[in-house]
Amino acid sequence: MAKRISKVERERINKILELLNQHYSTEYKCFLNYETPWQLLIATILSAQCTDERVNLVTKDLFQKYKSIEDFANADLKELEKDIHSTGFYHNKAKNIILCARALCVDHGGEVPRDIDELTKLAGVGRKTANVIRGNIYHEPSIVVDTHVKRISNKLGFTKEDDPVKIEFELMEKIPKEHWILYNIQIISHGRSICTARNPKCSECFLSSLCKSAGK
Ligand code: SF4
Repeated sequence: MAKRISKVERERINKILELLNQHYSTEYKCFLNYETPWQLLIATILSAQCTDERVNLVTKDLFQKYKSIEDFANADLKELEKDIHSTGFYHNKAKNIILCARALCVDHGGEVPRDIDELTKLAGVGRKTANVIRGNIYHEPSIVVDTHVKRISNKLGFTKEDDPVKIEFELMEKIPKEHWILYNIQIISHGRSICTARNPKCSECFLSSLCKSAGK
């Protein structure tokens, strides 16, 4: 059941979102490089437990070698494992990419579906990956809970949950729909520049007067 959000908390959330808009991009952008929807899907599968920079390095060559979703569907497992080795968890990722590519070819005519239930049926695709696709490709309001969103949403006091799916649903209640896609983009920027995992710079943070973890 939806939790009631007090007027004071609603104002605090809105002020935080306003400040994020003032300090970071209000345009949709993706930190993973891609040219087609299926490339973004594969890049996002590769990004599990891996930095976007590393994924971008790997996909630069990978998408030269495998030029279509059919190429991935027909890939040799061992060879693909070698190609993506440096992104980590390469056994599972390679297996999932091939299964996912086959399902796209057989069940979806080579297209990436828009529907979250169809997306999450694909191998290697959880809600996070599905929401990346829905937000970036289809501009469907969606909240991507990655490591930055999970950590900083807890710090800001938007959630106390640890499970990404519970966090996603709690954020959907607290953040206005028109800010769902931007929230992930802006929080990644904040997590990389100010609220870093190792050393959050609370004294320099423009959210410090509104943040429940400032200075802690
Ligand atoms: S005040 Fe500190 S903990 Fe809160 S968002 Fe800023 S850097 Fe992160």
